[in-house]
Amino acid sequence: MRVFKFGGASVKSATAVKNVSKVLSTHTEAPLLVVISAMGKITNKMEELVDAYYHTKESKKNIFEEIKYFHQNIIAELQIDEYDYYEVDNLLIELECMVEKKRDQTSSYDVEYDRIVPFGELISTKIVSIFLNKMGYKNRWIDARNFVITTNKNRAANVLWDESVPLIKSGLKPLVEKQTVITQGFIGRGLNHKNTTLGREGSDYSAAIFAYALDADSVTIWKDVEGVMNADPRKFENAVLIPKLSYNEAIELAYYGASVIHPKTIQPLKSKDIPLYVKSFLDPKKPGTVVLENASRTLNETQCYIIKERQSLIKIASRDFSFIVEDNLEIIFSAFNSSGVQLNLMQNSAISFMACFNADKMKRNALVELLKEKFVVEWSEGYTLITVFNYALGSTQLPTIIAGRKIALEQKSSSALQLLLED
Ligand code: ADP
Ligand code: ASP
Ligand code: MG
Repeated sequence: MRVFKFGGASVKSATAVKNVSKVLSTHTEAPLLVVISAMGKITNKMEELVDAYYHTKESKKNIFEEIKYFHQNIIAELQIDEYDYYEVDNLLIELECMVEKKRDQTSSYDVEYDRIVPFGELISTKIVSIFLNKMGYKNRWIDARNFVITTNKNRAANVLWDESVPLIKSGLKPLVEKQTVITQGFIGRGLNHKNTTLGREGSDYSAAIFAYALDADSVTIWKDVEGVMNADPRKFENAVLIPKLSYNEAIELAYYGASVIHPKTIQPLKSKDIPLYVKSFLDPKKPGTVVLENASRTLNETQCYIIKERQSLIKIASRDFSFIVEDNLEIIFSAFNSSGVQLNLMQNSAISFMACFNADKMKRNALVELLKEKFVVEWSEGYTLITVFNYALGSTQLPTIIAGRKIALEQKSSSALQLLLED
C-alpha cells in the first residue's frame, strides 16, 4: 500500500489536474491512497475570505466569487458534465451560505478559519476524484475529517493518534485495498466534532499520518521541483538535487525552514521506517530524493541555503532591569506559546531577549499584549532569515546574499549559521 500526496502546484489548473491523472495511470500496481491539497493558491484566497467575513468587510462577496470562478473555470476546462459537477456546486453553495450569514459574535477567528478554509481541500479533491472517474481511473472520495481526529486547537491542531489510527485501520484501510481512495490533506476533526486544520502546508503531514496508520510501504510527495535540493531552485539557480537523505537530515532541513517538506512529516515515517520519496510531477521518471533511515549521509558534504522571508523582529527588555534568566524566560516562552508565535531564531543578553518569527499581525499583537506589562516590547518588520547548513564547508554564496544588508541577529551552531538580514 502506498500514499501519494499532490500539493497545490500539482492541481493549480485543468492542465495540472490532467497531469495528475497521467502520473496516477502509470502507478497502478499497489493499493493507493491519494492525499490532495487545495488548488494552486486557493488557501491564501480562503484566508482572505475568512478575514473579510470575520471583519464584515464588503469585499467578502467578491472574494467568494473569485474562488467560485476559479474552480468553475477548471471544471469547464476539464469538461466534467453537469450531473457530475453538482457535488462541487453543493460545496460552493454551502460555502456561500456560510459567509453570507452574519457571524456568531462569540466565535473566535480561529474557529471561523477552520470552518471556512477546509472548503479549499474539499472542493479540490471532489474535482480531481470526479475527473479521474470520468477518465476511467476508478476511485473513491473520502472525507479526511472522519479519520484524522485532532485536539480542538484550531489552525494548529495536534493529531490524536489513539483515536485516528484505529479509525484509519478499520475504516479506511479496507477501502484503499479495494480501490484508490482520494482524500484531503491539511484538515481534520476535533474531539468537539468541529473542523480543525493542521497548520499551513500541512498536507505533507497528512500524507505521513495516513501512511503511519496504514503501515504503508512508502509515501511519495509530488512537487514542481526535482526533489529536495540544497537550496530553493526558484531563488538559487545553481541549486543541486540531494538524492538521498536520512530522516534526521530531512528533519533538520525542514526545521530550519526548507519549505519543500513540512517539518512534521518525517517523524511518523521515521517511527515506522517508511521511505519518503520527493519527486517531480513534471518529470515523474526522474528519481528525485529518497528519505530513509540508512541513507548515506550525503548532506554532510553539501552546503544548503534556506531562506525565510517576511520575518518580524521583537526585542523584549525587563522593565525593572531584572536579568533575562529562568523566571523571565519562563514568562516570555509561555507568551510565545499561548499567542501561537513560532520562534525562528532567538538570542538573549543580560536584560533583553530578541527573536524573529514569521510576520503575522494578529499573533504578534496577542504576544505584545501578554508581555507589555512586565517588559518593554519593541518590534519591527521587513527581515529575511538566512540559514546556511554545513557553513563550515566554506560559503561562496553568502557575500552575494548579504549584499551589504545590515545583520540584525547572527547565530552559529556546529552545523548551521543563521543571519537575520534587514530587507
Ligand atoms: P506544494 O504545496 O505544491 O506541495 P510547495 O510549494 O509547498 O509544494 O513546495 C515546493 C516548493 O518548495 C518548490 O517550488 C520550491 O520553490 C520550494 N523549495 C524551498 N526549498 C526547497 C528545497 N530545498 N528544495 C526544493 N524545493 C524547495
Ligand atoms: N492548502 C493548505 C495550504 O496551502 C495545505 C497544504 O497545501 O499543504 O497551506
Ligand atoms: Mg504547499
